[in-house]
Amino acid sequence: QAPGAQLAAAAPASAAFVGKQAVKVVIRVRPSLPHEADTEACISTTGNQVAIVNPRNITERLAYTFDRVFGEADSQESVFAEVQPVVLRALAGNNATIFAYGQTGSGKTHTINGTASDSPGIIPRTVKCLLSHVGENALTASIAVSYLEIYNEKIFDLLAGEPKSLPNLDLRETASKSIVVSGLSNVVITSLGEFEKLHETALKNRSTAATNLNEASSRSHFIMQLSISNVLENGKTLSSKLHIIDLAGSEDNKRTGNVGARMVESGAINKSLFVLGQVVEALNKGHPRIPYRDSKITRFLQDSLGGGALGLMIACCAPGQQHYWDTYNTLNFATKSSFVKNVVVKHEIAAPKPPQSAIAALLGDYMLGGSG
Ligand code: ADP
Ligand code: MG
Repeated sequence: QAPGAQLAAAAPASAAFVGKQAVKVVIRVRPSLPHEADTEACISTTGNQVAIVNPRNITERLAYTFDRVFGEADSQESVFAEVQPVVLRALAGNNATIFAYGQTGSGKTHTINGTASDSPGIIPRTVKCLLSHVGENALTASIAVSYLEIYNEKIFDLLAGEPKSLPNLDLRETASKSIVVSGLSNVVITSLGEFEKLHETALKNRSTAATNLNEASSRSHFIMQLSISNVLENGKTLSSKLHIIDLAGSEDNKRTGNVGARMVESGAINKSLFVLGQVVEALNKGHPRIPYRDSKITRFLQDSLGGGALGLMIACCAPGQQHYWDTYNTLNFATKSSFVKNVVVKHEIAAPKPPQSAIAALLGDYMLGGSG
């Protein structure tokens, strides 16, 4: 039997991806960090629901239902169990995109990269899974990686050097409707060691593009592209692209008082995340027009999000009360994008305590929209 056929059999269309759902939406709420030990949580998780105080009536809580909710006790391994079917489908020839959304500090990088030694995230686990397949089919299968960054609507090659010192790259659509980044480095890997070196280079090039690491990682979209190729016994080649993305921070930049160049960045981030949300919503709701062309990241993802490609969005939330508004916005972003018909139910339980001070301080800045 051809490897492609085996793979397709090993990865049946899971119930989660049946039907019109182009992008599955899951939530991950990270644990409180040691320095947050005495802050109260503004969000709670039970089963596939999360609950948060209703900003319109702080004596009530709103519960949101998602395809899956990962809470503070859920490991990197359990998150990868959700991702693995997507990886297997990519091996069987489907393009796919996995992305982490959320404010800075919500756990996106932990989820996507993790820590190599004790808590590897989605990227290293995916590479391991793909390499084990290639190892068994060395003559017919291959994996190549590219790393890119989208910053201020420009694309930079993270394997070519520091983005600031390089020209940005153009996107092009081929005759077969594939999206290609002209001149992007693409390196074949055959071992974890080779991957680790490239990954380190990409992270280093990303971080040196800004004055400090946190800034770099929160203000640009970081994308790993895995190009997978499988030659079948009949001579045909199955090829696919798998994208794993650590998005720019979704915090509302208007609130942080950014000016000048920072304000330009903020505009680019807000717009691209807004368009990404619109694309996912349009795909999951079956709208006829998908606004891929309205931002660089969605244009880049045009052939690997929707239209037969699999998508998985992990919306990351920080639990502390001080993150109430960002968490609230993330849940609404995820709800809007979700296939799950979200009937917001009001929870009777009163704990945890409503974030009264946060609400008093911020209510004036916000239009309260969405669910409630
Ligand atoms: P982001 O990339 O969204 O800005 P990070 O992934 O850097 O956020 O996470 C912020 C902090 O929280 C980091 O110190 C990270 O190690 C920690 N963290 C995030 N998620 C988890 C988790 N699930 N378990 C333990 N620590 C986490
Ligand atoms: Mg990060």
